[in-house]
Amino acid sequence: MEIGVLAMLRKGEDPFAPIRDYGLKTAQLQNWDMDNLNAATAEKVKHDLAASGIRLAAFWAGYTGKIVWNSYGGPDTCGIVPRDQRARRVGELKRGADFAAMIGAPALITHCGFIPENPMDPLYAETVAAIKDVALHCRERGIGFWFESGQETPLTLLRTIEDVGLDNLGVNLDTANLILYGRGNPVDALEVVGKYVRNLHVKDGVFPTDGRSLGKEVPFGEGRADFDRIIPKLYDLGFTGELIIEREIAGPQQIADIRLAVGKLTELLEKYKP
Ligand code: MG
Repeated sequence: MEIGVLAMLRKGEDPFAPIRDYGLKTAQLQNWDMDNLNAATAEKVKHDLAASGIRLAAFWAGYTGKIVWNSYGGPDTCGIVPRDQRARRVGELKRGADFAAMIGAPALITHCGFIPENPMDPLYAETVAAIKDVALHCRERGIGFWFESGQETPLTLLRTIEDVGLDNLGVNLDTANLILYGRGNPVDALEVVGKYVRNLHVKDGVFPTDGRSLGKEVPFGEGRADFDRIIPKLYDLGFTGELIIEREIAGPQQIADIRLAVGKLTELLEKYKP
């Protein structure tokens, strides 16, 4: 297992420059700006990767349109579940897959949205078809399609993977999202989708305290993500992918929190090493 950081693609910036300062050698690259999805930017990313010596763990692709980041407004706005957003976002994710292949990323990651719990809900079959469309596009380019976890329950995620039925599917397990959305916890999720986990977002958080809000993201070790159980479970699963630290704040506190997470994670990896 190797520790990395989530880097953001922004015009005119080298997204990998800060990562070596953490003493790390791998990163996921995230993008929410569709204007970045072109050959010239891909060339710049490849140049920045080579210059910094960073290995790319995956490309995280966003999409356009309004998104409500909680369990109340999320089902109607997130990912490729909502009908009024789906066709455009499928197209944007395919462009993201083309870009991921251009920069040498092994996989595309995204939030598919609040995949319906009821497999008889027509929205479920439509969503599975849309995911298959994008995942096939990835497969044709020789890359994986990985679900970022946490807006759907682990069982629904497992069923969706089975129903899409392709060999390039995987999971990017975000250790806080299930908690933040009040849907479960990452330890139990590993029981259900553990064999599909390819990358993690190492993040911590606390559960929502009302039925309409997102829980609160907190620094590593201060929330309900139980890394003393997650790390041994990953070893048991034979997981050899990347642990990508994600801290969704900005400025000096983000840097301090990432450094703290690198230190604590390094200790845990050593402590539980079989
Ligand atoms: Mg995440």
